[in-house]
Amino acid sequence: MTSAACASEELPPLARLALARSEVDRAAQHRNDEAWLAAAWASPGTQVLVVERGHALAAFSADTARLVFVAPAAAPDGIRFLLGEAADGTVFFGVNGPLPDTSTLSGAAAQIRRISLREVGPLLSDRDAGLLTHAVALANWHETFGHCPRCGAPTQPFASGHARRCPVDGSEHFPRVDPAMIVLVTDADDRCLLARNAMWPARRVSILAGFVEAGESAEQAVIREVAEETSITVSQISYLGSQPWPMPQSLMLGFRARAEAGTDITVDADEIAEAHWFSRDELRAAVASGEILLPPPVSIAHRIIESWYGSPLPGSW
Ligand SMILES: [Zn+2]
Repeated sequence: MTSAACASEELPPLARLALARSEVDRAAQHRNDEAWLAAAWASPGTQVLVVERGHALAAFSADTARLVFVAPAAAPDGIRFLLGEAADGTVFFGVNGPLPDTSTLSGAAAQIRRISLREVGPLLSDRDAGLLTHAVALANWHETFGHCPRCGAPTQPFASGHARRCPVDGSEHFPRVDPAMIVLVTDADDRCLLARNAMWPARRVSILAGFVEAGESAEQAVIREVAEETSITVSQISYLGSQPWPMPQSLMLGFRARAEAGTDITVDADEIAEAHWFSRDELRAAVASGEILLPPPVSIAHRIIESWYGSPLPGSW
């Protein structure tokens, strides 16, 4: 066994995933406290993040970005959610509504742009990354799940936008999160299995991923998906970490697994266009030659591949 293979037995934990960072207390104890919420909304220091179809406004400088907030009085009408309270007492709300007109905002308006979580996640501070991920996840849910699954009536938000209630039958409904597993598969030589989804453009590759099905554990999903997509049988499954991926509503659960004896690949052509084993040297060479493109830093896939590779990854999408 090579030293690289020994090292890979213990991949480092996935610290500071771009969309798994936060700094603001969610202050869940205040979600049903109407007096506290009214006082917070009336406070001049309160900050409101407007989210429209998964997008918000951010101001860019150099290679960092910060979210653009508005005062409560300048926020549009829309579903309001309490995002939390910072250590300095600043309260943050989200509102699902039309984005502010950038020409009316103070500061360098030219640097302010409409952004998505995917685009800006790694550039934000811990505070802003957590606020935007929380707000986008809630906004996506309200936009999609506005009716009662029991009777079909339109439901109403409560708990500061963290739940909805049916006015007809009183049933309560909570944000939907779809668990998905994503797995780095290695073989006995510590090569990594990378695949191109049939829906992706040429050259893009990543590790295997798929939704956890009803009545299935995440580990069972790892075994099933890898077998379905590549015909590889895996064991030695270990958990690495998770990251919300509210595009629109996934929670990515990261794993590694070891291919058992056979490493011959037969892809499920409906889902996977191609899949190959890469050593670290082969990965470096394939990226350098332009043969493959690796996933972007915002993704847990990037970070899992990086933890196997052992140093910052070369070229990504
Ligand atoms: Zn109902």
